[in-house]
Amino acid sequence: MNQPMTDEDPPRERRAQPTPRPRLAEPTWTVDDARTLYGIPRWGAGFFDVGERGTMLVRPRGPDGPALDLADVAADLAAKGIGLPALVRFTDILRARTDALQGAFEQAIAEHGYPGAYRAVIPIKVNQQWHVARAVVEHGRRRGLALEVGTKPELYIALGLATAPDDLIVCNGFKDRAYVELALGAGKLGRRSILVLDRVGGVDLVVDACRRLGVRPRLGVRVKLSSKGAGCWSDSSGDHSKFGLDMAELLETVEALRRAGMLDCLELLHFHIGSQITALHAVEEAAREASRIFAELRRAGVRLRYLDCGGGLAVDYGGAVTGGRTVDYSMAQYAGAIVGAVGRICAEVGVPAPTLLTESGRALLAHHSVLLFDVLEVHRAEPVEAVPPPDPGDDPLSHAAWRLGEAPFRDAEDTLRRLIDLRAQALERFNAGRLDLRGRARFEAIAHTVERRVRLLAEGRTPADIYYCNFSLFQSLPDHWGIDQLFPVAPVQRLDEAPARRAVLADLSCDSHGMVQTFIGRGAGEHGVMLHEGDGGRYVLGAFLVGAYQKSLSSLHNLFGATNAVHLALCEGGYEVHEVAEGETMADVLEYVRFPRARVLADLAAAADAAVQRGALTRPEADALLDAHRDGMHGTTYLVDN
Ligand SMILES: *Cc1c(COP(=O)(O)O)cnc(C)c1O
Repeated sequence: MNQPMTDEDPPRERRAQPTPRPRLAEPTWTVDDARTLYGIPRWGAGFFDVGERGTMLVRPRGPDGPALDLADVAADLAAKGIGLPALVRFTDILRARTDALQGAFEQAIAEHGYPGAYRAVIPIKVNQQWHVARAVVEHGRRRGLALEVGTKPELYIALGLATAPDDLIVCNGFKDRAYVELALGAGKLGRRSILVLDRVGGVDLVVDACRRLGVRPRLGVRVKLSSKGAGCWSDSSGDHSKFGLDMAELLETVEALRRAGMLDCLELLHFHIGSQITALHAVEEAAREASRIFAELRRAGVRLRYLDCGGGLAVDYGGAVTGGRTVDYSMAQYAGAIVGAVGRICAEVGVPAPTLLTESGRALLAHHSVLLFDVLEVHRAEPVEAVPPPDPGDDPLSHAAWRLGEAPFRDAEDTLRRLIDLRAQALERFNAGRLDLRGRARFEAIAHTVERRVRLLAEGRTPADIYYCNFSLFQSLPDHWGIDQLFPVAPVQRLDEAPARRAVLADLSCDSHGMVQTFIGRGAGEHGVMLHEGDGGRYVLGAFLVGAYQKSLSSLHNLFGATNAVHLALCEGGYEVHEVAEGETMADVLEYVRFPRARVLADLAAAADAAVQRGALTRPEADALLDAHRDGMHGTTYLVDN
């Protein structure tokens, strides 16, 4: 209200007095509570936050940049005809992460007075999507970004992306003649690739191919370190890892190259101790071991220029990922550990410091995409008391089960064992015709209640509702299914309201593993996540930090196809949607299983003809039916909210 100033206006001093706030009866929930509950400060990395309106915000350029409202984005996509589930990719986050990684190493180099340079490397395996990799390469190359591939098709992607004169491709993985020739031949097309030898047997193949093609290659060697990465992917390191040369094989390889007159082609020393390395000391130890190898080879006359420290830079997903481990370092500390160790050892031994590379795929890519999906239906966990006790007319087994639940709680295992026994007896009675269907239903309801009560008491937790959601775990969060990785999950709206229900998520697949039951939280993962009670409106959830690995590991279980995917980029006054990749249709996924659309339709047409012959359908009805199928097959494999 705009009131004119009057003489009655109190003097300034008095107005500045704080007026006591009326106390509210209920403790109030604020958006700060939502931040804490969903662990956003921990995993958000400055990109995600809660706005005052209670919606999830994205700041694609980091904490000081402009904010987008994810609830608005979901509504906006719907208005554009892009339904959920949808993967939303933020180009600006890709750029910001690339800047952060390169900046962290540049700073560490300055702080340690390191005499060499740094180049970040994007491993194509982590997200092969053309637009994703391209955004990183185009932004990162001005500060020396390179690419890493592990297979022939990935090499084709890299050849298509590494078009600038200084772009570099590191070629890892198992190689056959075609792979080697592809990499070597690329040099003639102006692409620069380094072929990494990681098996003794690989040397001859490369030497032969070079002679045949008449090219001088650029080569690397991958070593197997004894230092093991602490983390759940640590099997890719250590003496028993799948890749890399042990010390005897390394020396053998060096000799083989010397004999072939190609030792001067060896430029790069590579190691990789695993992904999501959670302990900084493991990073540092591996860097020390590799530096010693580097320094010794240099002193033996091998003119190595690059030390490639592989992947492993961890992402904080908001708590324990698997196995109860949390990340104990920052990006700056990671850079400092590597730069410090390599610099110290090279100075000590008196060899030139290498250009450092890290293939930090997860760290570059995890944050940039968010899966948005909606809740379809909720199955409420009724309180245990909701089942009435048995009455005198009920079967004695129902009474026995009830008494088990009432007994003072001592040994959960024992109670559950006895319950199993009662269940077996009830089934036997039913099969013998001595317990009717109604009686069996009563028994099962009671036994189920008792079991729940016992389990809840034993585990000290409250029962969870099942929120049925429009997505497929196998398509969109395969690492949750495969290796129990936890991704942050939170609603994108109503964050200014206290959520009252503990929930687990069920996906659309007909597979009991298609559920998310553990979430980030205190300790090693929490049962259920707090969500809001339905209010009749649309309720959209986000699964965050899904930009690394999930897309390429996804599977077509139950034939749920790729979701819609969009790239959003900030622009003057908001954002623009570019690169809309429509999700796979029913026709698309049927093609994968060699069941082409034409064949499906031909089969249906034959059935329709037969039905017309029989008189079960008229010709116009049959035609209408076939038309509907023809259109319907171009629809989404997910549920469409009507
Ligand atoms: C998978 C892989 C990477 C990527 O590791 P991140 O932990 O995602 O950084 C890097 N280098 C090699 C050789 C790999 O196999």
